[in-house]
This record gives sequence, structure tokens and C-alpha cells, in this order.
Amino acid sequence: MDFSWTEEQEQIRKTARAFANQEIAPYVAEYDAAERFPKEIVQKAAALGFMGGVIPAKYGGSELDFISFTIILEEISKVCHAVGCALSFPSGLAGSSILRFGTEEQKEKYLKPLAEGKGFAATGLTEPHSGTDVASMETVARKDGDRYVLSGSKAWISFLEVADWILTFATLDRANPRKNICAFLIDRDTPGLRFKPYKNKLGFRPLSTGDVFLDECVVPGKNRVGAEGEGLKVAMSAVENGRLGVAARALGLAQACLDAATKYAQERIVFKQPIGRFQLVQSMITDMITGIEGARAATYRLAWLKSQGAVQARKEASIAKMMASDAAFMAATHAVQIHGAYGCSGESPVSRYFRDAKVFQIVEGQNQLHRSLIAETHLGFRE
Ligand SMILES: Cc1cc2nc3c(=O)[nH]c(=O)nc-3n(C[C@H](O)[C@H](O)[C@H](O)COP(=O)(O)OP(=O)(O)OC[C@H]3O[C@@H](n4cnc5c(N)ncnc54)[C@H](O)[C@@H]3O)c2cc1C
Repeated sequence: MDFSWTEEQEQIRKTARAFANQEIAPYVAEYDAAERFPKEIVQKAAALGFMGGVIPAKYGGSELDFISFTIILEEISKVCHAVGCALSFPSGLAGSSILRFGTEEQKEKYLKPLAEGKGFAATGLTEPHSGTDVASMETVARKDGDRYVLSGSKAWISFLEVADWILTFATLDRANPRKNICAFLIDRDTPGLRFKPYKNKLGFRPLSTGDVFLDECVVPGKNRVGAEGEGLKVAMSAVENGRLGVAARALGLAQACLDAATKYAQERIVFKQPIGRFQLVQSMITDMITGIEGARAATYRLAWLKSQGAVQARKEASIAKMMASDAAFMAATHAVQIHGAYGCSGESPVSRYFRDAKVFQIVEGQNQLHRSLIAETHLGFRE
């Protein structure tokens, strides 16, 4: 694995860092507190090609290699991983599944505006009774000629405030859901489709996450993505991209914690010396550095494998996602500790990092699942 960046990748890092510092940093505290999605900022980033990710130019994408994609998400997420999340969306489940399984008409109508930042989307998999065990979903699709009628509900779905459409999943047979799942693209204005965002979430506050209700929603057959019964395959087709995106965002957040803690440890005087002089504070800084270095290696290794065209990197995706989110949570915990009472204030960015870091251990497959996947693959119990 080559650890050096190309000149182009260095330039991308510089541009993304400057954008994050100039266009996001002055506003992030305000929109996080207001639980508002910063659409205008994401659209500015899209104009620089940051949203097009790894999607081909033909479909509005930036055709980036996976390392450049990761660099952008890491840099942006040092300031706000919620913007990073929006930028990762076209290359994640929402966009990649259409790219792989969608018709030309679906690519033109849904993928292109998403990759160009002209439209937004949500992906609805999780239900009130099925999160990790996604295949046991209860939302049902009834076939009615050349259309489907969907009924059920989804929970914890992000981007509800801005989504123009939702990629969601329903089963044709509730008695045997796994083999009968289908993927659908549903326009926001479809009668029977209703969104109800939650307020006062622990973290990820700008993401407008909440319930989706499907009450006899009529969806034309041409809006099914992939074949009937292929829904689980569609959902799993982009997990590596999704996990790479989450790892890159968690890594950016972890680095922001280390940067803030380093500055504070150098400047805060207690017992007539900077607190960074205390060995127990140094120990926390060392934990943060080693956690981040390990997570960075795992994340860029996954990006490198994907750039080499690896057909499957499922274990590496779990390693990167788990290591980066665990590193972020440890870094955020230590960063708050080093900041003392100031770390508990809403004014301090580290309190936001702390709230967000916990959520990273739950989304895109909770970390107990990744622990099992890594060991099961290693032991030969799973491919
Ligand atoms: C802020 C936020 C945004 C989200 N956005 C989206 C979105 O846009 N779209 C979407 O579809 N979903 C989204 N989710 C949902 C997220 O993907 C799920 O919360 C996640 O998959 C876990 O599912 P669950 O919450 O139902 O946990 P459960 O499956 O109920 O699990 C609860 C806990 O049980 C343990 N556990 C479960 N299974 C196992 C196992 N096999 N082995 C060991 N331990 C286990 C784990 O500790 C786990 O954390 C979001 C969640 C949050 C918090």
C-alpha cells in the first residue's frame, strides 16, 4: 500500500480544509443548536465537486478515486461531519444502489441531481422493530398490476427535512420477509408518505432524523430498484462505501478532538503549569494519537483496496468503521476530560464532538455487529 498522496490528492485536501474552515466553521454551532440542516453550505460544497464522490461524471458525479473521496470527508468532518454525511450520500447507499441496479431513467431522474447537489435523498431501512436485523422488516408491498402499494413505517431515517425522495424497502411476504424484499424510490409528494423528524437527539442534530410513515403509498413499477426479491442485495451493495464514509467522518471528528485537546493542554495553567505537563494528561493524549493513527491506517487501507477495484472488502470495511468510531468516542471522552468544566459547556465544540462520537458507534451497523463480522470472517464462518 502506497502511503503518499498524489499532488492532486494533496490539492483536494487543501481545498477541502480551506472550505471547512471558511464556509462551515463560523456557522456550525448555530445550526447544530437549531437542529437545522445546512443545505446552503452543502450546495456550495457540491459546486466544488465534493458531493459527486465516486459516481461517474456521466451521472453528475466527480468520478473521484476512493482515497480522494475519503480525504474530502475526513477534512470536512474535522469541522462538521453532518456536512460530510450529506457529501457521502451519492457514493453511499442512496446513489450507489441506483448506479448498480437502477434503470437509465432512474439514474437521470434521481442519481444525477443527487450527485450534483441539486436534490437530496433519504434512505429508509431501519424500522421500529428491526435495525440490526434488517431482513425482518415488516413494511409490506402489495402488488397491484404494474404498481405496488406500500404500508408500514421506518424509524431513525435521516435527511427528512430536505429529501426530495426516499430509497426504501418493503417485503412482498411478511411471513418470509428476507427473500421477498424489494427496493423502491418514492417521491416526497407521494400521497400517504409522511415524515416526522425527532427533536433533541443526543447527536447528529443537523441531520433531521425521524419516522417515515407509508400509508397505502402507490409506487409505479418503474420505481422499483433491481428485481423483485433483490432488495436485500440492493441494500447490501453499498455497505462498503457507506462504512468507508462513516469511518472517514469519525476519523475527522477524532482528529478535531485531538487538535482541541492539544491546544487546551498547552494553554490551560493549573498549579502554575500547563496541564499538558501532567503525565496523566499526556497518557490521554497518547491514547488519542494511537487510536487515531490506527483508525487512519484502517480507513485509508479500505479506501486503497476500493481504489484497486477490490470486489469485496467486507471485513476491512468493518475494521475501519469499528476502529474509527471507537477512536472517535475515546478521543471525544478524553477531550472533554482535558477541557474540565469548560468541556461540559454548550459553548465548547468538544461537547458537540462528545455527543456525536457516541452515535458513530451505533450507525452503519452497531459496533457489536462489526466485532462479530470481523471474527466470523476470520474464522471462516462467513465470506
Ligand atoms: C442519528 C441516527 C441516524 C440514523 N439514520 C438512519 C438512516 O438514515 N437510515 C436508516 O435506515 N437507519 C438510520 N439509523 C438507524 C441505525 O442504522 C440503527 O439504529 C442501527 O442499525 C442499529 O439498529 P437498532 O437501533 O434497531 O439497534 P438494535 O438492532 O435493536 O440493537 C440494539 C443493541 O443490541 C446489541 N445487538 C444487536 N444485535 C446484536 C448482535 N447480532 N450481536 C451483538 N449485539 C447485538 C447492540 O449493542 C445494539 O446496539 C440512524 C440512527 C441514528 C441514531
